[in-house]
Amino acid sequence: MDAGFGLYQLGDEHNALREAVRALAEKEIAPHATEVDEQERYPVEALEALNKAGFNAPHIPDAYGGQGADSIAGNIVIEEIARICASSSLIPAVNKLGTMNLILGGSEDLKKKVLPSIAAGEMASYALSEREAGSDTASMRTRARHDGDTWVVNGTKCWITNAGVSSWYTVMAVTDPNAAKPADGITAFMVHKDDPGFSIGPKERKLGIKGSPTREIYFENCVIPEDRVIGEPGQGLRLAFRTLDHTRHSIGAQALGIAQGAFDATVAYVKDRKQFGKAIADFQGVQFMIADMGMKIEAARHLVYAAAAKVERHEPDASFASSAAKTFASDTAMQVTTDAVQLFGGAGYTRDFPVERMMRDAKITQIYEGTNQIQRMVMARQLLKG
Ligand SMILES: Cc1cc2nc3c(=O)[nH]c(=O)nc-3n(C[C@H](O)[C@H](O)[C@H](O)COP(=O)(O)OP(=O)(O)OC[C@H]3O[C@@H](n4cnc5c(N)ncnc54)[C@H](O)[C@@H]3O)c2cc1C
Repeated sequence: MDAGFGLYQLGDEHNALREAVRALAEKEIAPHATEVDEQERYPVEALEALNKAGFNAPHIPDAYGGQGADSIAGNIVIEEIARICASSSLIPAVNKLGTMNLILGGSEDLKKKVLPSIAAGEMASYALSEREAGSDTASMRTRARHDGDTWVVNGTKCWITNAGVSSWYTVMAVTDPNAAKPADGITAFMVHKDDPGFSIGPKERKLGIKGSPTREIYFENCVIPEDRVIGEPGQGLRLAFRTLDHTRHSIGAQALGIAQGAFDATVAYVKDRKQFGKAIADFQGVQFMIADMGMKIEAARHLVYAAAAKVERHEPDASFASSAAKTFASDTAMQVTTDAVQLFGGAGYTRDFPVERMMRDAKITQIYEGTNQIQRMVMARQLLKG
C-alpha cells in the first residue's frame, strides 16, 4: 500500500494509553466499584489513582500543567474508566465539562488562575441546568448583576455533578434580562467554592452513578471578582453550546465504556454457565444476542472516535457528529446492559454481578448533557441547514 495513506486505526500512542488506563482501572478502581455504588460514596481511591497518573483531567493543555491530551486520548481515558466504574469516569469527564468554557473563551489570567489547580487534582463542575430550565436552558433564572468591580450572583442551579467535591464551578447566569434574544443575555463565570454567598444542597438520591454526588448549588448575593467572567458578557450560552460539542462525544465514550464492561462480563458468563448439558454460549438464541451487542458497541466506538476527531479539527459537521456519537453510544449502552442482565438470567438481577449496576449507570447517559431527544433536534437542525 502507498505509504502516503494513513491506516484506518488509532496510533500506537493511543493504544499504549488505552493499555495503561485499563491496567490502572482494573488494579486501582475495580476493587472498590461495587462498594462505591452500594454505599453511594465518592470514589476516593479512583480520584487518588487518577490524580497520581495524570488521568484526572488529561485535556488540560501543558501550558497550564496538564497533559495536553487530544480529544481521542481524553475519550480513551473516560471509556476505560467507565468500563470498570461509571461514577469514577465522571472525574475526567466532568473536569473537562467544568473547564471547557474557560479553555475555549476565557482570559489568559483566568486560565492561569484555575487550570493548574484542576490539573493538580482539584475538581471542576458545570452549572447550566435549573429546576425549571432543563432542556430549555435559555429560560434560566439565575441572575448576575455588575456592582462596581464585582459581580453579584443570585439563584439556584440543580443537578450539578460532583458539586461539593469540586473547587471551581462554571456557572451560567442572566446578565441582561432585556436582551432581544434571551440567549444573548447570558454570561458564564468561574465561581470558587469559597466565594461568599455560595453553598451546596443535599445529595440527590439517584438510580445510578451513585458514587458521583449530584446536588443543587445556591448563590445568595454571591460576590465574585469582575475578572471571573469567561469571555465577554452575553457570550455565555454560545460558549456553553460550543463546550457541549467538545463534551457530548465524551459522554459517548463513557456510555461506550459501560457497554464494553457489561459485554466483557457477559461473554465470560455465557461461556461458563451451563444449561441443558452445555454452555449457554452454544445456543444460537444467545449467540445472536452476543453478535448484536458486539456489533452495536463496535459501531458506537467508530462514531465516538470519529466525532472526537471532527471536533478537534473543527469540521463543519462537528456538532452533528458529537450529538450522534452521544446518542448512538448511550442508546447502545442501554440496550447492551439490558441484554447483559438478560443473559445473566436471575443472577443478572442481583448485586452479586456488576451488570445490574452497569444497566442503572447506563441510563443517565441518555439524559444528561442534553437528553437524546434534544440531541436528535441538534442533529436534525444541522442536517436540514445543509
Ligand atoms: C445525574 C444527573 C447529573 C447531571 N449533571 C449536570 C451537570 O453537571 N450540570 C448541568 O448543568 N446539568 C446536569 N444535569 C441536568 C441534565 O442535563 C438535565 O436533566 C437534562 O438536560 C434534561 O433536563 P430536565 O431534567 O429538566 O428534563 P426536561 O427538559 O423537563 O425534559 C423532560 C422530557 O421531555 C423531553 N423534552 C423536552 N423538551 C423537548 C423537545 N423540545 N422535544 C422533544 N422532547 C423534549 C426530554 O427529552 C425529556 O424526555 C444532570 C442531570 C442528572 C439527572
